[in-house]
Amino acid sequence: MFFGRKNPFSATDAFPLSDAVMEFDDSSSAMARPARRAMDGLGPRSGRSAGQKWRLAGGLIGLYVLAMAGFYALGMVDVQVLAVLVVLAVLGCGAFWGIFSSGLHKKVRHRHLKLAIVATALACMVGVFYLAPVTQILLVPFTFVAVAYGIFTVPRPALLALAACMLCLYAVVVGLHYVEQKNDALLRLEALHWLALALSLPTYILLMGRVQRLYRSLYHASRKIKNIQEDAQRDPLVGCFNRRYVLAALEEQKQLADESGIPLCLAVVDIDHFKRINDELGHLGGDEVLRTFARVAQQGVRAGDVFGRYGGEEFLLIFPATSLLPALNTCERIRAQVEIHAWVGLLKGRVTVSIGVTQYVLGESVLEFFSRADTAMYMAKEGGRNQVVVEEPVAKENSLLPESGHHTLL
Ligand code: GH3
Ligand code: MG
Ligand code: MG
Repeated sequence: MFFGRKNPFSATDAFPLSDAVMEFDDSSSAMARPARRAMDGLGPRSGRSAGQKWRLAGGLIGLYVLAMAGFYALGMVDVQVLAVLVVLAVLGCGAFWGIFSSGLHKKVRHRHLKLAIVATALACMVGVFYLAPVTQILLVPFTFVAVAYGIFTVPRPALLALAACMLCLYAVVVGLHYVEQKNDALLRLEALHWLALALSLPTYILLMGRVQRLYRSLYHASRKIKNIQEDAQRDPLVGCFNRRYVLAALEEQKQLADESGIPLCLAVVDIDHFKRINDELGHLGGDEVLRTFARVAQQGVRAGDVFGRYGGEEFLLIFPATSLLPALNTCERIRAQVEIHAWVGLLKGRVTVSIGVTQYVLGESVLEFFSRADTAMYMAKEGGRNQVVVEEPVAKENSLLPESGHHTLL
């Protein structure tokens, strides 16, 4: 990652061209990544991977099976009940695995299928309770566990409806137990358990609704912060990185080059006779040319290069871990691509750019580095525009780079 460290301005010489401090994190290092504004409207996402989600669900099922194994070990349920539970767990997991891996879940609105998963779990537990009434001790706490599993994603009314269905099913099983066993004591015990659940479960769901709302607002706030962070890095007119970002990236790369000794190059790109373009097309037309140029240039740079608007019709191009020759080649490619671009409907003439490129000399300031590239760009202007000029760096003490000089391409 190129921008792993924070506050690139803090430990270096002041660079008067920069106007703010920026922090970089891993998310900003995908330099050409488009703004991720598209939200699917499916509600909050936990950000967990599919594997982590399966592990969570599997862990909860495992806890229930473990508790049931304890019942078996104490002789409170027979092996058939345990076997039925394991079969139900395997069938349930297999069914959902099949749905998720076939992509069937994408056809429904709430594609996480949490409501269906919780409903299946509750139905299985009530089924086991029917087979072994003693497992009622597990039914109540694990009902809360199952509901908590879906609390962040399943809407509250759906959870309340599910709780009502579960209580009806529970009541049916209690009735079946009485019909089959005619045991008044068991009926009283089960009815009391049912009553406790009937009173506490809806209350729990209603109270958890507050947590649900808090979670949702946190989620939306974090999305907004992400969008604001991305906007803070982008030029609002042309969409590439802005001056603040590109200067912070330059500072960061300079530090990296100082620490590692890897080469670093910088190009200053200026659109030729842009005033004339504005005069011909008006400022809105000029803006369109800027946008198109930025797109063409962005297509010409490599994935690790940082391209951004410095101001007006001037752009910077940073070449991390790149020596002068490949940087020069990229500049020349961009110059040629801009020149041959079909500006159909926009302009009568061509759009050309003048580019100055140079390599960083270890130990020099960002200002010196930038000035050399800028000087090279002005030399390209003086040389007749539509060209790339290389300003070879002056070797500093202990530097292996060659002596000063410049030459022109084209
Ligand atoms: P040169 O070849 O010497 O660079 O000539 P130039 O006309 O491109 O250079 P100059 O710096 O004199 O003019 C730049 C022009 O760019 C002046 C300004 O009005 C225009 N400009 C700066 N920012 C914008 C912008 O955001 N949109 C538009 N449409 N024009 C802009
Ligand atoms: Mg210009
Ligand atoms: Mg200019």
